[in-house]
Parts: sequence; structure tokens; C-alpha cells
Amino acid sequence: MAARGVGGLHVAVVGGGICGLATAHRLVRAGARVTLLEGSDQLGGLGTFFPWRDRWVERFYHCVMPSDDHLLGLLGELGLRDAVTWRRTRMGMVVNGRGYPFNNAWDLLRFTPLGLPDRVRFGVVSLLLRRLGQGKDLDGTRTEDWLRGLYGDRVWELLLAPLFGAKFGARFGDVPALYLWQRLGRDGAVAVRGYPAGGYRAVIDALRASIEAGGGEVRLDAPVRRIGVRDGVRLELAGDVVTADRAVSTLPLPLLRQLADDDLAARLPDVELPYQGVVNALFFLKRPLSGHYWTPVVGSGTEFDGVVEMTPLAGVEPYGGRHLVYAMHYTDRGSALFREDDAAIASRWTSQLLGLHPDLNRADVDDVRVFKAPYVEPVHPLGYLARKPPVVVAGTPLVLATTAHVYPDVTSWNSSVGLANHVVGTLVGEPQPVPG
Ligand SMILES: Cc1cc2nc3c(=O)[nH]c(=O)nc-3n(C[C@H](O)[C@H](O)[C@H](O)COP(=O)(O)OP(=O)(O)OC[C@H]3O[C@@H](n4cnc5c(N)ncnc54)[C@H](O)[C@@H]3O)c2cc1C
Repeated sequence: MAARGVGGLHVAVVGGGICGLATAHRLVRAGARVTLLEGSDQLGGLGTFFPWRDRWVERFYHCVMPSDDHLLGLLGELGLRDAVTWRRTRMGMVVNGRGYPFNNAWDLLRFTPLGLPDRVRFGVVSLLLRRLGQGKDLDGTRTEDWLRGLYGDRVWELLLAPLFGAKFGARFGDVPALYLWQRLGRDGAVAVRGYPAGGYRAVIDALRASIEAGGGEVRLDAPVRRIGVRDGVRLELAGDVVTADRAVSTLPLPLLRQLADDDLAARLPDVELPYQGVVNALFFLKRPLSGHYWTPVVGSGTEFDGVVEMTPLAGVEPYGGRHLVYAMHYTDRGSALFREDDAAIASRWTSQLLGLHPDLNRADVDDVRVFKAPYVEPVHPLGYLARKPPVVVAGTPLVLATTAHVYPDVTSWNSSVGLANHVVGTLVGEPQPVPG
């Protein structure tokens, strides 16, 4: 693919999550004629929302971090940077059914699930961890091998595997330690987090408006069913065909593979990544829960591994006076839980939440909704840095911009925007650094 600008070219963008939206926004600004194709009836992908009574609420918890430079840059272009409210949030831990604050050295000293020597070791190693990782081949080191050695068995089993491993489940020990090391640069226990006024919907609406103002076309309910790349790009929809000079696919690689015609399939990167999905219950409570934004739940008889409470971050005003609590379990899309009926999950997880919080009554739970997503977190193998597929599918006009490309960055809106910048830079012949 020759990279000589996109002025006047027709570029199709497949997928209307943040990566597709940011890509389309940038392409329009670079002078391309853009058609964005979103399969569902809503833009936003994993950051999407649903109508709840007289307002809109996110299906999955989301927050902005102060280090999200790519995202904040985009918000600046959209005039939304000042619409982010920043708050200092705190973290809790529930171990064996009992809650603990988990924010500072004083909390750690009182964290009785660990013996005193392990508490001290945890504190000291955590302080030094970023430095201890420098210059090491963490991409080629199993997370478990690195952390068990540094922290010891008890801390690994009781804290680290549940704390950081929830996204990967049993596979966490095997993923490259580089992912966690990178993540420590983004998250923290006591952290300043941001939330945009009007929620993530405001960002999605602003991106759509920007694309359309630049002459781009945004099509909803337009699932791509087949992709071919001979003489330009041919995208088959139900009863329609879109042809374009170039295309950017933001779909998870396994989905793209299912849509590729034989010619394209033979050219796609041969990395076979497993993906974790998520099952997530959203509780609308009449009273606050713990005051902690994030609380991992360990060994407490719940199916969910953690709880995110939005009130400390966003207050109750966006939610009609209700306190929003998300409970989540990351799992394979083929698992029994993922395939289970939403109502059964809602009922069981409500009982489990009430069991964890004896002062919370059933009458305090105003409503519960369950949402699932099949492709959230690619599970990277050791040595993935060298195996990460290039964004350009060689010999074709197709470019990939997927969550499998942001490693070792954490999958987030920020890394997706960084990837969109990189991909559009590649298309216009001014490559931006790959995020990560
Ligand atoms: C529970 C949870 C919590 C999270 N918390 C945060 C957070 O706090 N902060 C943060 O920054 N990030 C967070 N994330 C991560 C973030 O949401 C994702 O990294 C990001 O949204 C990925 O964007 P994307 O555009 O790459 O993919 P997606 O959002 O998955 O978008 C892909 C789009 O493609 C569409 N599509 C699929 N098939 C087709 C087809 N055949 N044709 C056309 N369109 C198709 C889909 O409908 C979707 O809209 C969280 C994610 C989850 C699940």
C-alpha cells in the first residue's frame, strides 16, 4: 500500500467504537471521504450506553486517567477537555467477606489477611516495582514467575492474582509481565480519575458530529458480512455493497477472520489470540455502598471479582439520585456464565452483593441490568512484542486498528485513540509512534 496522503480517497472504517470514531474523525480532517460502518444500532462499542428511565447510562464502567494524553488531546479538539471533572478516588479490598480500605501505608499495616512481614514486603516491593522492571525482558517473562519471586507465594495468591488477574482469570500467571508493569504506570490505588460531563455519550456524539460536519457518512445497523481486497476494498452488507480505496478495520481479529474472503484470509496475520469477554451487572442502589471507586473481591463466595462504585467519581446527579455499582467477572465467551440468562445472573449476583453488605437491603436495590461483551481483552502470549501484527495487511489496502495492536499499553479509550492516530498517520504517510 503506497502511503501518499488520503485527500480525495474514499476510506471505509469498520466498527464505530472509540477506535473507529477517532480514526474517522482524523481521516475526515486529512481530507478523505469517509464512510463509517457500525454493525449495531449505536456508536461507542464497549463504551456504549443504554436508556435508563429518562437518562443514558454506560453499560460498562469507564473513567479517564490524567495520563490519558491521546484521549485528552482528542477531547481538546472536540472542545470537551474542560468538561472532564477530576476527583481523587479511593480503593477498597474485600477478603473472605470482610472489607478493608487499601490506599496507603497505614491501610496496608492494618491489612490483617497478610501477616506483618508480608505486609511490609508488599509495600516495599510495590514502591520499587516500576524500577525493578526496568531493563528486564518482561515481555518474555511470565507474570507469575516475576511477581511470585518478588512478593512471595502468599502475596501472589491472596492479593496479586485476584487484584490484577481478574481480567485474565486463570491465564493471568502466563501473560507477559510487561502488561502489568505498563499498567502500573496508568493505575494506582488512590488515584485521580476523570469523568466527562454528559457521560461517554457526550464524547461519542461530538465525534459523530465532527465526522458528519467534515462530510463523512456514519451508518448504523450496517454490519459488514464479507470483506474482499482485490482492486480496492469491497464490503458486503445485507443487501448493499460499499466499495472504497482503503479500509480500516477495528474489529477484533477473530471477527475479522470470519468476514474475510479467501484472498484476504490468506493475507491476514496468523496470530491466534484468545480473548477474554466480560459479564457485568449494574446495580442502581438507593444508598451508597462503600465510598471506594474500585474494590476487588477475593475469596468471598461471589462470582464477581470486583466492584466499581461510580458515586465517588461521578456523584449521583447523572443517575437520577441512584448510586451506580458495577460488578464484573471477566470470562471466556464460551463459558457457562457468559451463556447464562441475564435475569438469572441478576438475581444471583444481587443476593451475593447483599451477602457482602449486610447493611444493604433488597429494598435498597432499585434496579439491576446485566451486560456482556464477548471480546474485551486479548490474552497475549509471551514474546508478543515481536509477534504483534503490523497495522498494514501487506499487499492490500486494508489497515488494522484493533485492541490486539495496543500491547503493551492497557486496552482503553486512550490507547485506542493513540492507535487511531498511528493508523491515520500511516495512511497519510506521516507515521505516528505506535502506542505502548
Ligand atoms: C468492563 C469494562 C470496563 C472498561 N473500563 C475502561 C475504563 O475505565 N477506561 C477506558 O479508557 N477503557 C475502559 N475499557 C476499555 C475500552 O472500553 C476499550 O478498550 C475500547 O472501548 C475499545 O474500543 P474499540 O473501538 O477498539 O473496540 P470496540 O469498542 O469493541 O468497538 C468495535 C465496534 O465494532 C462493531 N462491530 C462488530 N462487528 C461489526 C461488523 N461486522 N460490522 C460493523 N461493525 C461491527 C461493534 O458493534 C463495536 O461498536 C473498559 C472495557 C470494559 C469491557
